[in-house]
Amino acid sequence: MARSDEKPALNFIEQIIEDDLRTGRWGGRVQTRFPPEPNGYLHIGHAKSICLNFGLAQKYGGRFNLRMDDTNPEKEEAEYVNSIIEDVRWLGARWVGMREDDPQAGVLYGSDYFEQMHAWAVELIKKGLAYVCDLSPEQVTEYRGTLTRPGRDSPYRGRLIEENLELFERMRRGEFPDGAKTLRAKIDMSHPNLNMRDPIMYRIMHEPHHRQGNRWCIYPTYDWAHGFEDSIEGITHSICTLEFENHRPLYDWFIDAVNQGRTDDGSGPWGRKIHHPQQIEFARLNLTYTVMSKRRLLELVQAGHVRGWDDPRMPTIAGMRRRGYPPEAIREFCARVGVSKVESTVDIALLEHCVREVLNRTAPRVMAVLRPLRLVIDNYPEGQVEELEAINNPEDPGAGTRKVPFARVLYIEQDDFRETPPPKYWRLYPGNEVRLRYAYFVRCTRCVRNEKGDVVEVHCTYDPATRGGDAPDGRKVKTTLHWVSAAHALTAEVRLYDHLFSRPDPDQIDEAAAARGADWKSNLNPRSLEVISPAYVEPSLKAASAGQRYQFERLGYFCVDPETRPGALVFNRTVDLKDTWARIEKRR
Ligand code: ATP
Ligand code: MG
Repeated sequence: MARSDEKPALNFIEQIIEDDLRTGRWGGRVQTRFPPEPNGYLHIGHAKSICLNFGLAQKYGGRFNLRMDDTNPEKEEAEYVNSIIEDVRWLGARWVGMREDDPQAGVLYGSDYFEQMHAWAVELIKKGLAYVCDLSPEQVTEYRGTLTRPGRDSPYRGRLIEENLELFERMRRGEFPDGAKTLRAKIDMSHPNLNMRDPIMYRIMHEPHHRQGNRWCIYPTYDWAHGFEDSIEGITHSICTLEFENHRPLYDWFIDAVNQGRTDDGSGPWGRKIHHPQQIEFARLNLTYTVMSKRRLLELVQAGHVRGWDDPRMPTIAGMRRRGYPPEAIREFCARVGVSKVESTVDIALLEHCVREVLNRTAPRVMAVLRPLRLVIDNYPEGQVEELEAINNPEDPGAGTRKVPFARVLYIEQDDFRETPPPKYWRLYPGNEVRLRYAYFVRCTRCVRNEKGDVVEVHCTYDPATRGGDAPDGRKVKTTLHWVSAAHALTAEVRLYDHLFSRPDPDQIDEAAAARGADWKSNLNPRSLEVISPAYVEPSLKAASAGQRYQFERLGYFCVDPETRPGALVFNRTVDLKDTWARIEKRR
C-alpha cells in the first residue's frame, strides 16, 4: 500500500496497539510497564525496554508504570531499587505517580500484591486446578520429562482439595522446611510445552523479604506472579523479551484459571472476571563487545574486574551516565535499533555514533593536552601573555566565546611532532609551519633530546602577522594544532576507556583456551582503562563540575567524573572523535 503522505512504518507492536485502538479492545486504553527485578543495576538492554514501553505509552496517550518485580526475596535490594529509580528517571521516562520531590513516589512493587496472589492460589486449589506436591526439586525435574519424552504425574497429584488447602495453609504458616513442598498447577504432564507440565506456583523459602519482612515463607514463582501483577495494574500490552514466548501459554492459563467460573457482572460463586492483558514478545538487545546479563555484570563487579556497577566501562545506565553518555543519545540509539522478533547483535559503534551526534551539537570545545611536549616560541617576548578569543561551539553560535591565555612556552601533543616526518605527515617537523588554534602560525626550527634520546622540547618561531590564525599574505598551512599554555594550564587526571572485551563476541573462546577452562572472562580487554596523569587542560575548566561534558579539541568527548575535586580534576573519555559507524554506513 504505497502512499505519498507516508508516515514512518509502524513496528509490529505499534501495529497491534493501533489494531486494538481501532477495535476498542481495551476501551481505547494503552497501559505499559517496565518490570525490573531489583537484583542488579539496569543496563543498556533495559534502556531499550524502558524506551519502548514508555515510548508507546507516550505515543498513544497511555500510561506507563514502573514496577519492581520483587517476588524473590533477595539481599541488598534497597541499593538496586534506588539505582533503578534513578536510572529510569535519568533516561527521561515518566511513570504514573512520579514526583520530583520524592523519588519513590508512584513506584509499584509486585510484592504488594502477595495477599491477592495467595488468595487466587487458594481459589485454584478449590477449583481443583492446583495441588501441594512433596517431590523434591530433583524429583520434580526428573518427573517433568524432556522435549522428546512426556513427563509422569506426581504421586501427590490426586490429593483431595481439603488436604491441599490444609497443607498449603501449613506451608504458609512455616511448618515445613525449604524445599519440602511446592504448590503446583494441575495442567498436563505430557504437554508438548514443558512450561505447562504442572508448573510450580509457590516454593518454601524461609527468607525475609526487603519489604514484607518475615510475613512470608512461601514465595510465588515468576510465572505465577507476573501475569497477576500486570492484571492488577490494568496493563494492556505486557511487553517482554523473546525467551518468554513459550511462557505465554502459561501466562494465559493462570489468568484463565482464575477467571474460570467468574463472570463479567460478578454473578456466580467466584465473582467478577479479572483483567487479562496481552503478552507480546520482542527480541532482546545484544551489543558487540558487551555482556548484558545482570549475573555476569555482578560477577565483574564482585571479582573486581571493574570499579563498580557505575564503572564507565560497564554497559549499565549508571556506567554510561558516569562516562558522559547523554540520555538523549541512548534514547536515539534505542529508537534506531527498533523492535523486531528476530535476535541480532547491534554494533556498539552505532551507540557511540549516537553519543557523538548529541555531543557534537551540545558539548563546549576546550583545549587539553594528554601527552605533553614543551613547545618554546623563541621569538615570542618572554613574560608576555595574550588572551586569545576561542569559539565555544562552532555548531552552536549561541554558545559564545571565551579567552585562552597564550604565552612563550606551551604544551602540544607528543604525536604532533616528528623530527623525521613520515609520508603525509603535515604536523610539526623541522622547517614546517602549522597553525596553533586561535593563535598564530609557528615554524619549527629544532628539537631538544634528553640523554635517553627522547624529544623533550621543540623550538619554533611565530609570525606576529598571523594572529587569530590567518596569514595576510594568503599562505596556507595544512594543519592546526591544539595547545595549552604551560604556565596557565591546570593538571588533570584523564581516564581513557576502550571496550571492556577484546572480542566482538565475548563468548567466543578458542578451542585451546576452552580446554584450559577459559570462559568469557578470558576475553576481558587488559587495556580497557588507561589513566593519564598529569594531563594539562586550559584554565577555563577550573570550575568544571561532575557530569559536565566537553569536547577536547582533536581528542574526543570528555566528562567530569564524580571523583573530581577542586584542584584535582578527573575526566572520563566518553568517546573519541573517530566515527567508525559513519564509515560503516558509507561502505553500505
Ligand atoms: P538480565 O537477563 O540481563 O539479567 P533480566 O531479563 O533478568 O535481565 P529483568 O529485571 O527481569 O532483567 O528485566 C526487566 C525488563 O527488561 C524485562 O521486561 C526484560 O524483558 C527487559 N530486558 C532485559 N534485558 C533486555 C535486553 N537485553 N533487551 C531488551 N529488554 C531487556
Ligand atoms: Mg532474568
